[in-house]
Amino acid sequence: KQGREGTRVLPDYAKLHLPRRPVDGHKGDFGKLFILAGSEGYTGAPNLAARAALRTGAGLVFLGVPREIYPILAVKCDEAMPFPLPEKYEEILEKAKGCDVALIGPGLGRHPKTEKLVRALLEDLDIPVVLDADGINALCGHIDILDKRSAPTVLTPHAGEFARLTGCPLPVKDRLSAARAFAKEHHCTLVLKGHGTVTAAPSGNCWICGTGNPGMAKGGSGDVLSGMIAALWGQKHLKGPYTDLSELAAWAVWYHGKAGDKCARKLGEYAMLPSDLLDAIPEVLLENT
Ligand code: AMP
Ligand code: MG
Repeated sequence: KQGREGTRVLPDYAKLHLPRRPVDGHKGDFGKLFILAGSEGYTGAPNLAARAALRTGAGLVFLGVPREIYPILAVKCDEAMPFPLPEKYEEILEKAKGCDVALIGPGLGRHPKTEKLVRALLEDLDIPVVLDADGINALCGHIDILDKRSAPTVLTPHAGEFARLTGCPLPVKDRLSAARAFAKEHHCTLVLKGHGTVTAAPSGNCWICGTGNPGMAKGGSGDVLSGMIAALWGQKHLKGPYTDLSELAAWAVWYHGKAGDKCARKLGEYAMLPSDLLDAIPEVLLENT
């Protein structure tokens, strides 16, 4: 049981049950996702995030990528729908507004024009946003944008991104308190990644994750997690009375770590890849439905 400012440890052996999908559900019920990701040199991140979202139950995934890399994603993606980002901001905004959740950041790069686009979307979008990687970096010096948002936001920094955003020294000393303070102050969900990932809610509630292993310390693992969180946030039957969005993010973290632990057992921590996490998601979700 969790008090108002409770901290729950989600151990590696716990089962986190997802309800069955409504029998008459259609793809609109399971979330339209808008993903803004990728840049030259980072063509894997958007694909990993989009595939992770689909593997976690998302109904429709629109994947907006820079025009230069669009042909690559068009070949990589079957189920997700990649499109080249329009020149006009209004057209990007319109596309995003038609969705239930936005995931912004994986492999996006730090071009000033891109960072401006991220900030504008955060200001103008009133749907829940999952902000990862360079999406978080775009907030450096502009954290106040978070405070003004009306819809829920989750940030998924690793320690380096968190330190860059907040100016706190590395290593982050008391990760639980740091995450909790940030989430409360900026009214967002903060997923501070690493060994024992902390998920902090704006209410002060926190979850510490007992799954995951150092085999996941490889470029691409975080992209998978961001897609999984966005997918859970988009599914109508998972929200409302059933659970709150911060708790859903904590579950995504747990499932992601559990998938990592399955990969470590099968392939070993040295050899396992972030794309192997995608293949382990079905088993994890089957065991927890
Ligand atoms: P990123 O740094 O954005 O690629 O994210 C890495 C992902 O792998 C996060 O979800 C981390 O929590 C996870 N991860 C990395 N290293 C470890 C570790 N030593 N133990 C558990 N999880 C880890
Ligand atoms: Mg990352």
